[in-house]
Amino acid sequence: MAWQVVIAGGGFGGFYAARALERMLPAQSAHVTLVNSANFLLYTPLLPGAAGATLDPRHVVVPLRAELRRTDVVIGSVSGADPSRAVLGVDRIDGDRVELAYDQLIIALGSVSRTLPVPGLAEHGVGLKSLSDATALRNQVLTCFDIAESLEDPAERAEYLGFVFVGAGYAGVEGLAELQDFAVQAIELYPRCRAQGMRWVLVDAAERIMGEVPPSLSRFAEHELCGRGIEVRTSTTLAEAGARSARLSDGETIAARTLVWTAGVKPSPVVARLGLPLDEGGRVVVDSTMAVIGAPGPGREWAIGDCAAVPDSARPGLACPPTAQHAIRQGRLVARNVVASLAGRSGRPFRYRTKGVVAELGRNKAVAITLGIRWRGLPAWLIARTYHLLLMPGVGRRLRLLVDWNVALVFGRDASSPGRLGSTTPLGHEDQRNGSLAATHAAPPAV
Ligand SMILES: Cc1cc2nc3c(=O)[nH]c(=O)nc-3n(C[C@H](O)[C@H](O)[C@H](O)COP(=O)(O)OP(=O)(O)OC[C@H]3O[C@@H](n4cnc5c(N)ncnc54)[C@H](O)[C@@H]3O)c2cc1C
Repeated sequence: MAWQVVIAGGGFGGFYAARALERMLPAQSAHVTLVNSANFLLYTPLLPGAAGATLDPRHVVVPLRAELRRTDVVIGSVSGADPSRAVLGVDRIDGDRVELAYDQLIIALGSVSRTLPVPGLAEHGVGLKSLSDATALRNQVLTCFDIAESLEDPAERAEYLGFVFVGAGYAGVEGLAELQDFAVQAIELYPRCRAQGMRWVLVDAAERIMGEVPPSLSRFAEHELCGRGIEVRTSTTLAEAGARSARLSDGETIAARTLVWTAGVKPSPVVARLGLPLDEGGRVVVDSTMAVIGAPGPGREWAIGDCAAVPDSARPGLACPPTAQHAIRQGRLVARNVVASLAGRSGRPFRYRTKGVVAELGRNKAVAITLGIRWRGLPAWLIARTYHLLLMPGVGRRLRLLVDWNVALVFGRDASSPGRLGSTTPLGHEDQRNGSLAATHAAPPAV
C-alpha cells in the first residue's frame, strides 16, 4: 500500500516540498496530495511589479498543475485537522467537505496581514498580499485619477491624489515605490491632476525604513524615495483611518482615499484549527527538523514557512523570519525528512543563513546584498531582476517576465483600468459590462 503524504498549502514552502517529493519518492510507494486555495503559486516578490504594471498579473503566478505532474492537486480550503485520527479537513472547490487521511502531513499555510486595533483600519485599509490586492491597487490609482480629474474643488481632488502606505519593510517599500512610479507615468494623462500634484506618504513606527537591510542601504532607499517627492515618516504610527483621510501619531491628518497596510504578517488563522501546539505568535511549534513537537500521532506532522516557528540556526533562540528564501529551503529539506521518516531514519536539522536581500525601488533602481556585498542603484536592480528570473520556475514563465519587463521599459506602463475583469456580466445588464468604469466605480472607491 502506498504512503499518503498530504501538503496543506501550495505557496513557496508547499510547492517546493511537492517538487522535491516528486523527485525523491517512487510513484508506486507514495501518493502526494497538495491542497491549496488557488490553482497557482503566487510569486509574492513580484507582486509590487503587478501593482505597478510592469508585469501582467498572470505572469507573477506559477500554475501548480503545470509544474507538479505527479502530485494530486486539490483546490479547496483547509478547514481543520484531527491529528489523533491523522486526517485533514478540506472544503473542496466543488462544495464537498472531505477528510484526507495522511501518514505524513506538511503544513505550509503561510501568513496573512497582521493588523493592529487602529480605529478605522479594518474598514478603510487594504493589504498587498494577494494578486487581487495588487490588481485592485493599480486600478484604484487610476480610478482616483479619473474621479479627481472630474472634480472642481482642489481640496476634494487632493483626497483622491493622496496615497498613504503604513509599514516600511521591503514589501511596503517595494509596493509603494512601484505604485508611485506607475502613478507618475499615468498622471501625465490627467492634466488637472498633474497640475495639482500627488502626495505619497510612507509611515513606519521604526526609526528607519527597511529594517531588514543594513543602515547604509536603508539610507540609500530613503534618499531615493525622498528624491521622488515621497514623504517618509519614521518613528510615526497610524492613529486613525477614515474614508477620506489618515491621521498620524504626530497629529497630522493626511487627505487620502488610499491607505495601504503593509506592517507585517501573522500565521494563517487556520493553523489554530489543526489541533497542534502553537507558540505565542500563533505559529506551529516544530523542532529543528521541522517535525511538529507534541503531536499525538498516529501520523507524522511537519510545518514550514511563515506559519511555522522553525528554529533559526543563524539566530539562536529565535524563529526563522517569514521570507520566501526560508520557505523554499524548508520545503526542500522537509521533503527529504519526510522520505527519511518513511524509511525509518531521522531527519536533518534546518540550517540556513540569509545569503542576500534584494528590494526593487522602481525607476531601474534597487538595493541588494549578495554574499555580504552591498549593491545599490542600477547594479542592484539588475541583480534583483536576474535573481527573480532565475528563481521563477519554468522557462516559459521566465520568458513572460522578460517580455513584460522589456515592453514596460520601452513603451512605459499600461494605464488602463480593467475594472471587474474576471467576473461575468449578467445578461440584460449590459450597462455593467466588464471594465466599465461607470459600473465598477459608481460610488467613490471605498479605500
Ligand atoms: C508583497 C510581498 C513581497 C515579498 N517579497 C519577498 C522577497 O522579496 N523575498 C522574500 O524572501 N520574501 C518575500 N515575501 C515574503 C514571502 O512571500 C513569504 O515569506 C513566503 O511566501 C512564505 O511562504 P509560505 O509557503 O510559508 O507561504 P505562502 O507562499 O504564502 O503560501 C501559503 C499558501 O497556502 C494557501 N492557503 C492559505 N490558507 C489556506 C487554506 N485555509 N486552505 C488552502 N490553502 C491555503 C495560500 O493560498 C498559499 O498558496 C514577500 C511577501 C509579500 C506579501
